[in-house]
Amino acid sequence: MTLSIPFDNSYARLPASLFTPCQPTPVAAPELIAFNRPLADQLGLTGADNDADLAQIFAGNHMPQGAAPLAQLYAGHQFGQWNPQLGDGRAILLGEVETDQGRFDIQLKGSGPTPYSRNGDGRAWLGPVLREYVVSEAMHALGVPTTRALAAVRTGQKVQRETALPGGVITRVARSHIRVGTFQVLAARQDIEGLTALYEHAVARHYPAAKDPLSFLQAVIDAQANLVAHWMSLGFIHGVMNTDNCAISGETIDYGPCAFMDHFHPMQVFSSIDRNGRYAYGNQPDIIVWNMAQLATALVPLMPDTDAAVRDFTEVIHAMPDLLRKNWRDRFAAKLGITDARQEDETLINGFLTLMANSRADFTQSFRALAQGSAADHMSDAAAYAKWQGSWQARIAEVPDPSAHMRAVSPYLIPRNHQIEAMIDAAVAGDDAPFHRLTTALARPYEENPAYRDLAEPPKEDEIVKATFCGT
Ligand code: AMP
Ligand code: MG
Repeated sequence: MTLSIPFDNSYARLPASLFTPCQPTPVAAPELIAFNRPLADQLGLTGADNDADLAQIFAGNHMPQGAAPLAQLYAGHQFGQWNPQLGDGRAILLGEVETDQGRFDIQLKGSGPTPYSRNGDGRAWLGPVLREYVVSEAMHALGVPTTRALAAVRTGQKVQRETALPGGVITRVARSHIRVGTFQVLAARQDIEGLTALYEHAVARHYPAAKDPLSFLQAVIDAQANLVAHWMSLGFIHGVMNTDNCAISGETIDYGPCAFMDHFHPMQVFSSIDRNGRYAYGNQPDIIVWNMAQLATALVPLMPDTDAAVRDFTEVIHAMPDLLRKNWRDRFAAKLGITDARQEDETLINGFLTLMANSRADFTQSFRALAQGSAADHMSDAAAYAKWQGSWQARIAEVPDPSAHMRAVSPYLIPRNHQIEAMIDAAVAGDDAPFHRLTTALARPYEENPAYRDLAEPPKEDEIVKATFCGT
């Protein structure tokens, strides 16, 4: 095998209570679907010139030199319910690489059972593998902090879900896979040695300026407020914001039933298992505050004085909604071409969102059209729109070339649900061309390339995707 990965595995040196060493389970006939060369170059991988070798490695059949494969322990609140043990049930961390842009984990997902698999098979079918590949890479190109996709392979084996489906493995790259739930499990077990080691590791890795658990908490809160506001500004719904799917790094992680909205509805839900709409589009800011409160709780055992810790942590959690609101306002104001957002601009922002909601207007197209002067075409109430437009134009009268600012934050392309589903159907039938076309197009989402006009279109009535499913 020619591929060389310059591993430097720091997580494997943490206390043994945080993970279990384990190996991927080899598969029958690995076949490479995609290998992300620019990302591989960024990570310092060399000798990656043979697809058959890459397939062996990224299916888990061949362990690259220097890897220290392990499954990470974590717990989490799932839909608000405490689950005392989760962990990597179908993912195996191969190791980490240190680059000029920081340290990154390289992890296989769908590579077979681990000690944390519970009743699961440790596998993934091709659908969620390709969905995660396309959406996470699109998120990156959109400018949103996210895990990345390094490779996707077919396993040549079936996985049994409701029917037998073709299996796949995705290789995920992340600044780390430390979750809110990683802190939670150690706090719940009163494993203070493990919790302290995890905290020190996370500080050194992500927030080296944090001098104590309070400033660490504040740093995670800042990163998450930025992230969720960014999601909101693109119409992105994560779909399963359980505390185990919430990364300390502030990256988007775990692309399961996630979706970008087509027509705007402030409480849109896609996930088939989110029956009460806990993770609806409009609830995401509240939920991230709730998740940060769970992180705060897990950090309390690190503090010498519990009462003082609870008081200080409560204060920063209570300040988070205002922080989110400011992040939200800045992001949406920029979409209106406003370069110096003020609190009063919320009226203008909410005015446009209301017009979109009342018109069932396409979120992405409406903002893009606003930048081109054609938003009226998307609105059902011409008079109401004209009134709003008057106030908006007065507000941005002084901004030079607002359209350029707007187009830089309102994309032409997003990964649309119906395109993703069509891509998966094709791949299951053996045709990867739509996957490659989507990946290529979405690498430049702010560019208006006429070759991809069809990908910019919202779904026709019979193409609308009403529900998305967990990546199991
Ligand atoms: P997720 O829905 O991907 O956030 O997963 C929630 C938990 O279920 C995690 O601990 C996963 O590792 C575990 N899990 C999900 N699917 C499987 C599977 N097919 N086999 C084993 N564990 C799984
Ligand atoms: Mg998860």
